[in-house]
Order: sequence, then structure tokens, then C-alpha cells
Amino acid sequence: MSIQLASVSKSFGPHRALNGISLSIEEGSFFVVLGPSGCGKSTLLRAIAGLEPIDQGEILLDGLPVARDGFHLAPEDRQVGVVFQSYALWPHMSVAGNVAFPLETLGKRRSAVSARVAECLETVALTPFVQRKPAELSGGQRQRVALARCLAQGAATVLMDEPLANLDPHLRSAMEEELASFHKASGATTLFITHDQREAMALADQVAVMWDGEILQVSDPDTLYRRPNSKRVAGFIGRSSLVPVTVEQVDGGNAVIRFGDVTVEVDCPDGTAPGPATLLLRPEHVVPATGATGFEGRVARIIYRGGHWEVFVSVEGLDQPLMMTMPRKAAPGDLLRLTVLRGWVLPR
Ligand code: ATP
Repeated sequence: MSIQLASVSKSFGPHRALNGISLSIEEGSFFVVLGPSGCGKSTLLRAIAGLEPIDQGEILLDGLPVARDGFHLAPEDRQVGVVFQSYALWPHMSVAGNVAFPLETLGKRRSAVSARVAECLETVALTPFVQRKPAELSGGQRQRVALARCLAQGAATVLMDEPLANLDPHLRSAMEEELASFHKASGATTLFITHDQREAMALADQVAVMWDGEILQVSDPDTLYRRPNSKRVAGFIGRSSLVPVTVEQVDGGNAVIRFGDVTVEVDCPDGTAPGPATLLLRPEHVVPATGATGFEGRVARIIYRGGHWEVFVSVEGLDQPLMMTMPRKAAPGDLLRLTVLRGWVLPR
């Protein structure tokens, strides 16, 4: 099932939770909506699921309108599965009963239901817990029951609202892998909501970055990381330094830029013109220089990140230190010779 939104808006009183959102989600893709708390992600998901009527715009599922001009198709008629951050499990039913419930209500044969339930519980590593009640499970285990229930329905479209938020980091990455392989095997169009950029990067075919009811950029994870379209997106995805620079020359997708005494060639978007600009430097763009080349920087502070150090280096002419990573520990005050490998001039 493909999902299209055209100029969708939704307000709660004076607050515009969705402000003219347009999105196109291809059939079978794993599409992640990434944004900070309160930016409208859940409202977007609820509008697609039919749980929240919209004020303006249009939502199409597989090309057919499900919401527009006062028309609102009921959630149960949209054929999408939803997994919420809160698990919404039946407290009186066992784990197996909860997963089987939607299949039973569809009138499936008992043997087919049990086989499917066993398969889905195996996928989320809950086989030993089939007879437990939700109250006898940890938060993470309950979340996995909710996931298994969604998998069992075999919906062609699955909407997930921060389904991994309550899991510990180890289980979280195991579940990420499960979700990725489930998605590959099922081919279900998946819309996944998160405020965790690492999770978005790990799972998505496409990521939409959302901010204050609007979509700032939609790209594959690599493009989003290397070619963000604004300071806001750059700051939200990965670690970076944003450096005020002067663009001296532009040649296609290359620009020669200057900051302080440093002149380097970097990547730039179409339409870049000479003059003041902001350069995005990821930590891997700032590296030790060989010989007498490069420029000087003094270590301002270091943070151990497990296997490497994140090092902040003060450079003359820059208000903010540059961030880089080093395999060895440096000490505050150390003088380093550095060079810049590429970087990205942000669109004005
Ligand atoms: P989080 O990551 O914290 O769950 P979110 O990005 O999912 O946040 P939403 O739940 O979509 O954000 O909420 C968007 C905005 O709309 C918030 O400011 C929220 O307070 C407001 N809002 C959401 N639902 C309602 C409601 N039913 N009534 C009034 N305001 C609401």
C-alpha cells in the first residue's frame, strides 16, 4: 500500500500540530518520520491511521482517498496495523491470546491462528512467555507482544509510534534487526515514528525530518547525513560543527571556501554563490594533517565515546571549537595540526 499526504493540516485549538504536510511513501518502503518531542509525529501517524480527523488536505492509501473535505474513513476500514508506544494489550488475556485476538476476530481457522501466533512470538523472542499475562512482563516484553500482534495481522501497511522507546539498548538493536528482516520478508509498507536519529538511520529507506508541524527534508539516510538542507536538519542528524565561512569560488558541486587562514575545497549544493555561508563539518571531516600542511588547533575538551575520543579543538578565527574523533586520548591544551577533508556548504 502506498501512502500520500497532500497539504494536510490539523490544529488543536490555536496550536497547529500539522502544518500543510505533503509526503509520498512508496509501497513496500520503510519510511521513518524523525523529529523532536511535540513536533507532531504521533498526530501525523494517527491521521493516517484514521484515529485523528484532519482539518485540511487529503490522505490517500493506495491512491484512494481516506480523508478529505469532511470525508473520514473509519480506522477499521483502512487496513493498517498500528503499534503504539503504550502497548494497548488486553490485561486478562495471555501473551498468546493477545497476539491471536485480531486473527480470531477475522474468523481464521484455529490451527492457522496457533501456527501464526507461534511464528510471530518466535520472531520477537517471546516463545517462553506465551502463557503469561501482560502484568507479568517487563515493559520491553510487553512492547514485543504488541509488535508480535501487529506482525500476526499481516497488514500490508504498518504504522509504528516509537515502538522501541521502552527497550534497553541491547534489546533495542536486536529488535531493530528483527524489524528490518520482518520488513524485508513481509514487504509491508512501514511508517515508523521516532525521535531517535540513530534508530532512523539504522532502519529507514527514507527519512522525513519533522519540526514544529512541518517536514524539513525527505531523503535517504546517507543523503540526510551528508547533504542536509538546513542548519536545523544538520544539527538534528549526527554530530557536526557548523562553521561560518566565505565561499571564494564555485565550480559545479565544488566550492573553495575560507575560514581564518584555512582555504579548502568542499562540496556544495546547486545555486551556491561566492560570499558568506555555513560549512557543515562532520567529525570525520577534521583529521590530523601530515607534515607542515594544515592549520593549528588547540584541544579544548575531550569526551570518551567507547573506543574513541570526541575531541573539541579551538581554532583561531572560529567562535566555536571544531569537533573531531581520535583513536588516542589527547589532553586539553595539546596543540594539533589539522586539515579538513571535504565538508558541505549548507544551502542559504
Ligand atoms: P512525542 O515524541 O513527545 O510523542 P510528537 O511529535 O508525537 O511528540 P504529537 O503527540 O503529535 O507530538 O503532538 C504535537 C503537538 O500537538 C503537541 O504540542 C501536543 O501537545 C499537541 N497535541 C497532541 N494531541 C493533542 C490533543 N488531543 N489536544 C491538544 N493538543 C494536542
